[in-house]
Amino acid sequence: MTHPFLDLAPLSAAHFAAVERRVAGLLATEADVVIMQGEALLPLEGCVRGGARPGSTALNIVTGPYGQTFGNWLRDCGAEVVDLAVPFHTAVTADQVAEALAAHPGTDFVSLVHAEAATGNTNPVAAIGEVVRAHGALFMLDAVASVGAEPLLPDAWGVDLCVIGAQKAMGGPAGVSAVSVSERAWERLAANPRAPRRSYLSLLDWKERWIDAGRTVLPHAPAQLEMLALEACVERIEREGLAAVTARHASAAAATRAGVLALGGGFGPYVEDARDAAPVATTLRAPAGVDAASLVARALSADPSLPLVAGGGALAGEMIRVNHYGADATRGAVLSSLTALGSALAEHGRQVDVEAARSAVSETWPSE
Ligand SMILES: *Cc1c(COP(=O)(O)O)cnc(C)c1O
Repeated sequence: MTHPFLDLAPLSAAHFAAVERRVAGLLATEADVVIMQGEALLPLEGCVRGGARPGSTALNIVTGPYGQTFGNWLRDCGAEVVDLAVPFHTAVTADQVAEALAAHPGTDFVSLVHAEAATGNTNPVAAIGEVVRAHGALFMLDAVASVGAEPLLPDAWGVDLCVIGAQKAMGGPAGVSAVSVSERAWERLAANPRAPRRSYLSLLDWKERWIDAGRTVLPHAPAQLEMLALEACVERIEREGLAAVTARHASAAAATRAGVLALGGGFGPYVEDARDAAPVATTLRAPAGVDAASLVARALSADPSLPLVAGGGALAGEMIRVNHYGADATRGAVLSSLTALGSALAEHGRQVDVEAARSAVSETWPSE
């Protein structure tokens, strides 16, 4: 008997190219799309190492933990790094970016995370892109947590390097990721003697050996399972309609926010302004005196399938995340999550109003 995962036919070059075109469609981009054969940190590191070099000045916008990672890579490349950090419960503004660029006119690289799944904030990329484009710097965007959850238009927004992964709102597995690369970005990478070449981190290798060679021969055996999973993700999004998928994520976030405010008990949204809250995940501040990680553990003991997770690292004590990834962006998942958190908090002896939370969810996100 053939096994569905194991007895796979090799993935042809034509099939690989077709998946690339489908991903380009998802991003509404005319730029080249490279599907790097690894989790999203692979193209992110490849973009940073390709775009930055000694003598570069990089504006690294830090709105969450991933921005900190980029800063370390940029410094490692010998770039002078200007960190523009804002509190993780807010978003950066285009004016702040404009001020930073004016203060550092030599900036030739800007890195930004669109939405931060870890902290639940999202940044106004369209407005920031306008500022970066006017300045002329290369613009890299980490859109891993925004793709499929909210509008993402790299071409219209002047994004030169737009990295996505399937493991968040696309509802797929981690393990394969993609990046759109503008003409400007290809020129910058080609002109950088320190850009990775003959390396797994190299975008230029893909250009030379795959794109410029006519996409007929794959440079190495692709990750078959992950490529098929990526294709299935995009297919499922196309079937539902990208606008419907993003609307579902927006509704899940808005309903969770409204529900948590109605729940009471000392819970509150972690991201202060609803405008800055990411549709991919809603982060909550645990009530004072209540440990977030143990509250989540208690809620999950009733139903381990709930999309709840305590904040990472230093935030484990105070933050709770309600993830809205793909299939979890449903009214049912929001209702169950808030109900479970409410019960867990009631066990702590806190006063909560689960019924009010449920009504707030239904009012914010009425069933069809
Ligand atoms: C999830 C995510 C990634 C991918 O990183 P993993 O931690 O390996 O899943 C990258 N950037 C952002 C903004 C993410 O949310």
